[in-house]
Amino acid sequence: MTEQSIILRAGLIGHPVAHSRSPALQLAAFDALGIAARYELWDTPLEALAARIASLREPNMLGANVTIPHKTAVHDLLDAIPSEAARLTGAVNTIVREERGGGVRLLGYNTDVSALRRVFAEQGPALAGRRLLTLGAGGAARSAVAAALLEGAAPWVAARRVDAAEALLAELRVRHGGNHPARALDLADERTLTEALRQTAILVNATPIGTLDPAASPIPLALLDALPDDAYVFDMVYNPPATALVRAARERGLRASGGLPMLLYQGAEAFTLWTGRTAPLAAMRAALGMV
Ligand code: NAP
Repeated sequence: MTEQSIILRAGLIGHPVAHSRSPALQLAAFDALGIAARYELWDTPLEALAARIASLREPNMLGANVTIPHKTAVHDLLDAIPSEAARLTGAVNTIVREERGGGVRLLGYNTDVSALRRVFAEQGPALAGRRLLTLGAGGAARSAVAAALLEGAAPWVAARRVDAAEALLAELRVRHGGNHPARALDLADERTLTEALRQTAILVNATPIGTLDPAASPIPLALLDALPDDAYVFDMVYNPPATALVRAARERGLRASGGLPMLLYQGAEAFTLWTGRTAPLAAMRAALGMV
């Protein structure tokens, strides 16, 4: 086989995976740089996960993205976790196949957290010593809390199940080892939430509320008035690209963004980890329909 005929492979491991935007994003990047590679959808039920991960050791594999529900389970199937964010969250969204000295290793990274930090650095106020309030206590909230801890900010979490918010904060703060002030709130307690928003530098929606529903918001929109003037509102929901929360924040004169930049940057960093090349952001933005 000649060098030219080798097709490199990457893909998405999850269950389900059919509606992912990652194939369009990564193929646009491979095409823009003339890299002969495929990006495949690897729908993987839990019982097939270990075999799927083992298949990444085959020649011509670049690695994989990992999505729901396997981000935590893959952690223990890899050879090393070089990424501090992956160790802190216990979640891996990118696997890199590394071949060195005749041996193959699978390395785990979390590019969701670094993508969030990049978005915050580009669009938000300086976070160190300030508060990041996350709405929701699931997997995406885990990334936001990790980003807060790594930026030296106080991670607060408001969720409809306060016990889930408390558990998330306790787990990550123990792993991080710092002593950042943190608090878990009830998402339905508007008075406490309003008080919390007064000292919030970045507000993150990490619930799915607003997905496909242009009117739905995780908090009453009037509460946005409590945010400081320099606050930044980031909604992880990317469909629609600007939710009611984002539109209302902008109407109040705040900086705000929907979730597409996070999707873009997590994919861009994964691409660079696999290929060693700078990600062609313009082509990747176009693939996501970003203007
Ligand atoms: P998840 O693990 O299922 O967590 C969702 C969280 O939202 C849970 O705390 C859940 O509470 C809460 N929630 C759901 N419906 C709610 C409601 N009606 N009222 C109050 N709380 C509600 O999901 P995830 O993986 O964290 O994803 C959350 C969202 O972020 C999704 O829309 C996903 O597409 C988006 N996301 C975007 C990016 C990006 O790159 N932009 C990356 C990751 C995720 P319970 O536990 O009580 O159900």
